[in-house]
This record gives sequence, structure tokens and C-alpha cells, in this order.
Amino acid sequence: MEKVRVRFAPSPTGPLHLGGVRTALYDYLFAKSQGGEFVLRIEDTDTARYVEGAEEYIEEALEWCGITADESPKKGGKFAPYRQSERRHIYDGYTEQILKTDYAYIAFDTSEELDAIRAEYEARGDVFSYDNKTRNRLRNSLALSEEEVETLLLNKTPYVVRFKMPVDRTLNLEDIIRGKFSVNTNTLDDKVLVKNDGMPTYHFANIIDDHEMKISHVIRGEEWLPSLGLHTLLYEAMDWEAPQFAHLSLILKPEGKGKLSKRDGDKFGFPVFPLNFTDPVTGNVSKGYRESGYLPEAFINMVALLGWSPADDKEILSLDEMTKEFDLNKVHKAGARFSKEKAEWFNHQYIQMKSDEELLEILKGSDLNLALPDEKLLKIIHLMKERATFPKDIYENGKFFFEAPTSYDEKASKKAWNDETSDILKELALSILNIEGKEDNAETLKQKIHDFAEKKALGMGKVMMPLRLALVGELKGPDVPDIMELLGNAEVSTRINNAINNFK
Ligand code: GLU
Repeated sequence: MEKVRVRFAPSPTGPLHLGGVRTALYDYLFAKSQGGEFVLRIEDTDTARYVEGAEEYIEEALEWCGITADESPKKGGKFAPYRQSERRHIYDGYTEQILKTDYAYIAFDTSEELDAIRAEYEARGDVFSYDNKTRNRLRNSLALSEEEVETLLLNKTPYVVRFKMPVDRTLNLEDIIRGKFSVNTNTLDDKVLVKNDGMPTYHFANIIDDHEMKISHVIRGEEWLPSLGLHTLLYEAMDWEAPQFAHLSLILKPEGKGKLSKRDGDKFGFPVFPLNFTDPVTGNVSKGYRESGYLPEAFINMVALLGWSPADDKEILSLDEMTKEFDLNKVHKAGARFSKEKAEWFNHQYIQMKSDEELLEILKGSDLNLALPDEKLLKIIHLMKERATFPKDIYENGKFFFEAPTSYDEKASKKAWNDETSDILKELALSILNIEGKEDNAETLKQKIHDFAEKKALGMGKVMMPLRLALVGELKGPDVPDIMELLGNAEVSTRINNAINNFK
């Protein structure tokens, strides 16, 4: 069998959407699962839709996800260049080639002329389509005489190349995920293949490059399924063998109906882009998973499972494990519903798998003010990671390790503090924190508090609750003795005094 070669072919028209990341990931996983190659090709023939910085964004996003291309604009490769705008010299020959067949013709209609026809149709309640029913009445080489065409060409009249869609042919198409289906060519129009500046459009450049780059499998979003008929005929016209196709279903809104959009992300508070993206025109920033505190491993694991179920319904898989398990035949035909909760669940799971040291590195890479020695930070991480969905939660939920409380939660105060509490805590502080210079560990502190409560015939709650309130400012956090060990005797004593003064 020929080598498996799969390409991800985004257009640099904006940031990569979640769906784009999933396409890239499945392209990569399939290629690698077959011992094949994964190619990144930038499809930038549509200069009107080009967005500054989008290509760099795509490269950076894939890099962050760990989806490494074997060939790409940056890396190069045996079929370089990998940017369509740099491949014009390759396309020209193929334009000539297709014009020699019966599958293409040239058309001189200006956009004003076509707009006028469209408006005419609309006025009649019709929709205009440049197709096998209308083309014989329009300004093209099929409808005009040879002399007229020649004169127009001599006068350098601009023209486009259009595909000549065959009349009333049933195309039997096949998709790896969706199976077999057929399309009648009468439902398809005569797409522009080459624009009047000589640059091919997406459809033509796409099949030329897939052929030139020896792509064996095209795995892409389902929005391209309606183009499969045209693409199949283009391969026929060029007398090339077509690759195999697989069209991935949509990623759906959290409610399950309709395509997931940026607006859903804004509404429900989750990103739809892998990295932050600043619109070069408006300056608007769209939030990214990276900047929102997602770990790349968690992010791609979540994305991979939007539409694919590995064997045994396993959920946590590394990129290597996914590569081993990936099976295009097991990719779902139905759309995959996005769930913010599930995304967070994955992140939580991956945080638990990180060592304290790794999490410390991540936290140090953020802009949090971690003004404590590493040794203490590692202990805080150890105590707090269990409840963290995002690395910053470790800091935010453990803020009291860094700063003494300046206020006390009202409800908690009512519950934890009464007239006797100040005396109890004063005595507790005296009896357990007065060993000069010596710090106790959590276990010893726990025993001491226990003994103190027992001696005073107090329930543990009467001691632990106000103590927690004094140290944390609310009734949250890990075990009180753990907090005490980390803060140290002096700080515990200060916080107890602060609370006593506050409740006076
Ligand atoms: N350039 C197209 C896009 O932006 C690629 C479609 C394809 O993979 O054929 O999605």
C-alpha cells in the first residue's frame, strides 16, 4: 500500500476554532496510527479573507497541542512550498491542462453583470445559479462563438475558468465515516476554478496540492461534504486517482442543537479557541484554552473524545495512547456535543497527574504573586491540588497561605464564634504554640488540639471551627493542622489575635 499521508489544510482567515483543532488532531492521529506522515498546508489563495497573524496562530496552537507536522511552511519538506500563495507557478500548468479537457471553460462575465442577473432572479423569487441550465446564455466560451472569444482574449478581457459540471450524471461517492451516497450533477453549479488574476480558488488549488503532495486521505470538517462531488470530478478531469475522504461531524452547542460558536463560549464562559487571539482589526481578544489554565494534554484529550470513542470507553489517554488506539471507523457519524463541565473534568484529572514540582513550574510561569519559598509552595500545592480544576485555583483557593484574612465570612462567623470562643482560642494558643523556636508538624498539632479539647471537655468543633475561621477567614481549606504547620507558630498566633480583636 502507498504511504499514508494526511494533511491539515487551514485557511488563515482567523484563529483556529475547536473544530479545526479536532480536524488537525484526527488528521495527525490517523496519519501516525498508520505509520504515515502529517502535513500542514496553508490555504491562502483567498486574499480577501486573509487575516494578519492567523498563520502564526495556527502554527503556535498546533505546537501547544503537541500536534507536530512532518512537513509545514515553517519546517519545509519534499513538497515545499506549503503555502498556496507561493505555489502559483505549479498551478499555471494545471490550469492549461484542465482547459484542454471538456471539464472547464472560460467565462468573461463581470461581477457587475452577475450581480445584475442575480437581482433579476431574486425579483422573480428565484435563485440564480451558474450551472448547466444557465451557462449557455452567459458570456463564456461555451455560449459565445470562437471569434467572439478570440476577440475578447485579444483585447485582454479578464476571465475566470469555470468547471463544466456534467449534465445529469449520478455520482457515487464514498466517505469513510458516512459510507456510500450519491449526488446528481444537476444539483451542482459550475464553480470558479481560477480567478481572473490567474490564481486558483480553493477547490482547484486543493485538489492539485493533494495530488502533488501525494495525500492518501483527506480528513476534514463536514462543511466540505457538499464539495465532494466537485472534487471527485476534478480528479476525473485531471485523470488522477482521488484520495480517500472522511468528513467529520460538527461539534455541537452544549444544548446539543446547532454548531458550537464563539457566542456559545461567551455565553457559557468557556473558550472556543486553543490560544488567545487578538483580532488585528478590532483589537478584540478571544479567550484561549491555554490562557484559561487548561493543560495542553487535557485539552487535546477532551478534543479527541468529541466524536471518537476509544476501546473500553477509556477516557484518559495521552497523545501516544490515542495514536495507538485511533480508528477512523470508530469516529461518530453524529455531531458531538461540547460540555464545559467535561472539559473542566479533564483538566482536573490531568492536574492530579502532575507532580507538585511540575505544578510549581506551571504556577511560576503565570503572573501570580507567589511570594513564598519553593519548599512552602510545594506543600501548598500538595494540599490544594486535589480541589483544583485550573493551576491558578491552587493559589486562589489557598490565598490564605499568602495573606492573613482581613475580614471574616459573616455566615461562618455566626456559626463558629460565640462569647466563649476568644477565651478558648487564647488558651489554646498559649498551651500549644508557646514552645519557643520550635515548630510542630501537622500530626503533633492535631494531637495537641485533640488533647486540649479533651482536657477542656469541649467538642472538637468548638475548637477547630473558630481556629479555621481565624486562619482562613472562612470555613474552607484543607485540614487545620496542615494549615498551621505551613503558616508556622508565629503567624498562627498573630491570626488568632487578629480574630479575637475583630470579634471583641
Ligand atoms: N482550506 C480549507 C479550510 O479552511 C480546507 C478544506 C479541506 O481540508 O479540504 O477548511
